[in-house]
Amino acid sequence: MSRKVYLNGRFVDKDKAKISIFDHGLLYGDGVFEGIRAYDRLVFKLGEHIDRLKRSGDAIMLKMPMSKRALKKAVIDTLKLNRLDNAYVRLVVTRGPGDLGLDPRKCKSGSGTIFIIADRIALYPKKFYENGLKIVTAKTRKNYIGAINPNIKSLNYLNNILAKIDGIKKNSPEAIMLTYDGYVSECTGDNIFIVKRGRLFTPPRTISLKGITQGAVIAIASREKIPFKEKNIRLGDIYKADECFLTGTAAKIIPVTKVDNHTIGAGKPGAITRRLLLAYQELTRRDGVRY
Ligand SMILES: *Cc1c(COP(=O)(O)O)cnc(C)c1O
Repeated sequence: MSRKVYLNGRFVDKDKAKISIFDHGLLYGDGVFEGIRAYDRLVFKLGEHIDRLKRSGDAIMLKMPMSKRALKKAVIDTLKLNRLDNAYVRLVVTRGPGDLGLDPRKCKSGSGTIFIIADRIALYPKKFYENGLKIVTAKTRKNYIGAINPNIKSLNYLNNILAKIDGIKKNSPEAIMLTYDGYVSECTGDNIFIVKRGRLFTPPRTISLKGITQGAVIAIASREKIPFKEKNIRLGDIYKADECFLTGTAAKIIPVTKVDNHTIGAGKPGAITRRLLLAYQELTRRDGVRY
């Protein structure tokens, strides 16, 4: 059976799903999205994802085309219809079709485009989880937070794409992005953590997207009595860290063993990273919305 996607209130064949070339999501990256995962018929943190989608929309004055409850149902219906037990879900809401100008008021209010794609993905091969990623720092700086608030999960991803290209040129699967003033913010699609002398750190959650996976890791650390702090981190702190790992819905928790040719710790996934990874896997197996 060919995959069906949800598009503006209907399910259509994935090859037949079409949107207008006047859609401001396409013309200007004017829209918001979420990446959500389901593990053995449990949608992980569905409520948090829908809340963040709504907040992202509010921040750009984009009204959700339906209630939170209806959004959750649409995600679950998409998973059910495609008979997916384990899946990655992409939920996108755009400003909808307008004219060629920027003015969002030209896109009829409440006529935003909404679509939901559910499919299987494995972002990184298994060996990366066992051996760790080797990543680099992007030459491209992160958008200044006074220009674009990093807590809006928007379709406007050019900053991240430029950083991703920097990484690709150096054969790196992810890339660390620094703020204009040289602090570590996050990677192109993942948050970053370091461990130093048994303590866990992540950059202030105001200079990067507040990741839902990142939030789950912070909650696990608190439960497991692993000292944790949000802190300004410099690249040198990463080079000298005992452990480093990335988090994101698609990547889950992935160890990093090399950054810009500096070996992190012992050059293999660290003990705290592995502990957090196991606890996270455990959490995704029992916590979620069942369908
Ligand atoms: C989505 C995203 C993340 C990860 O957030 P999760 O909620 O854990 O999936 C991190 N950084 C950026 C830039 C993102 O877009």
